Amino acid sequence: MPNEDTPIEQSFDPATPAGWESLRALGHDMLDDMLRFLEDLDNQPVWQAMPDDVAVEFDKPVPMAGIGQRETYDRFRNYVLPYHNGNLHPRFFGWVRGNGTPYAMLAEMLSAGLNAHLGGFSNAPPKVEQQVVNWFADLFGLHGASGLFVTGGTMANTLGIAVARFANADSRGYDIRSFGLQSWPATSSPPPMVFYGSSETHNWAVKAAEWLGLGRRAFRAVRCNSDYQMDIARLESRIASDRAEGLQPFCIIGTAGTVNTGSSDDLEALADLAKREKLWFHVDGAFGALLSLSPSLRHIVKGMERADSIGFDLHKWGSMPFECGCVLIRDPEMHRRTFATPAEYLEGTTRGVAAGGAYFAERGLDLTRGFKALKVWMSLQADGVDKLAHIINQNVHQVQHLVSLIESSDRVEMLAPAPINIACFRYLAPGLDAGSLNAFNAELLLRLQERGIAVPSSTHLNGIFALRVAHVNHRSRTEDIDTMFNAIIDIGKELEAEAFAYGSPAA
Ligand SMILES: *Cc1c(COP(=O)(O)O)cnc(C)c1O
Repeated sequence: MPNEDTPIEQSFDPATPAGWESLRALGHDMLDDMLRFLEDLDNQPVWQAMPDDVAVEFDKPVPMAGIGQRETYDRFRNYVLPYHNGNLHPRFFGWVRGNGTPYAMLAEMLSAGLNAHLGGFSNAPPKVEQQVVNWFADLFGLHGASGLFVTGGTMANTLGIAVARFANADSRGYDIRSFGLQSWPATSSPPPMVFYGSSETHNWAVKAAEWLGLGRRAFRAVRCNSDYQMDIARLESRIASDRAEGLQPFCIIGTAGTVNTGSSDDLEALADLAKREKLWFHVDGAFGALLSLSPSLRHIVKGMERADSIGFDLHKWGSMPFECGCVLIRDPEMHRRTFATPAEYLEGTTRGVAAGGAYFAERGLDLTRGFKALKVWMSLQADGVDKLAHIINQNVHQVQHLVSLIESSDRVEMLAPAPINIACFRYLAPGLDAGSLNAFNAELLLRLQERGIAVPSSTHLNGIFALRVAHVNHRSRTEDIDTMFNAIIDIGKELEAEAFAYGSPAA
């Protein structure tokens, strides 16, 4: 016999009004704690290492019996919250990671509460997603484009290349969806398909080449000029020589905002070339596409509006919580034909719940999809696009301020042009050879991070180790840039005083 306290039919909902009341109280505490935490970020270290006695918590086995919600929330507060990534902090400038916003956090809660399935249908949630897609298609000049929210820029860009690959094969009468890139009996093997981007293209392109069955050699990385933009003459001759060898070029990738230095390809020239060569023009605008929202910066990405497809993120410069990327495809029918895979259990209707069918599932790989667009829909309405453009301008100005500090310093030097929101530089300790300077700067970066002062990341430019500030942080003020710069000088001097032998492995 089931006893009264453990009824045989259970649910994850509270079982009584009192149970709902205590969940409500817990929810209010969570909200208060999190908002207080965000309000107080300035007084906290950017990042702190996790002590061993906390780390052991993450080795514990799965509990078969629950310990309760309040108890578990305490574990979050003690073991998770203090040891975050750092990327929400005003002095976090590493990689290209957004902060998220408190308002979008609340929208995420609503989205999880509603738990809408975004495979398609024509209820309000898919209308929200379609509206946000339309907004960005209009903002970027791809009016009427199809689109899909995905986890991030890697997926968004990869889907763009998948459509490009399908469209090219289709235009040659080759049924790539039936045969893939393989040679089946009684089919002739298609010529190897290749696509192009600059050597500064983000590594998603290599992943895409592998995953789409093209192989990484199908991605042709074209050398850059001294401004880290694709050398267009080189691209043109590479396409010609590939064609002469019997390869099948199908796509050119232009990058709006490269990850290393923030350079942007000459998208206008690439659009012209793609048109001349009858190639698909894809723009990776992971963060840089949003430059087009700013009247004073949009000239940098001129030509993007001519793209056949654009991949971009809102979880970087759009300040949305992860995961929030989006792909736009100019030709909606080509988009659908690349992925649509009919199934009896997914048939649409003209009325009822399934009205409209699973049309989002026909634009990519996922069937079950979460409600990623709600936070964007709410944030853009609450704040307006102008505010987002303001933050983007602000970040560019703050990085240009850093550049001017560096240029007037005799201890720090720029290592690449910094046209927008990314700056690559190093500390110049006198008397050190190239290898030692690399090690010196690597140590400087680690001390800066481990002391919780500020978090830039790093890269290598022509073999030189660079401190890299990639700034998409809506929380930073100019004084945060100053604090970081002063700390770099102080730690640099400290290391000089230690006269540490950075080049030698014995050190
Ligand atoms: C971050 C980035 C990507 C990858 O996007 P994710 O959202 O991290 O998957 C692609 N291209 C560029 C230029 C990027 O900065």
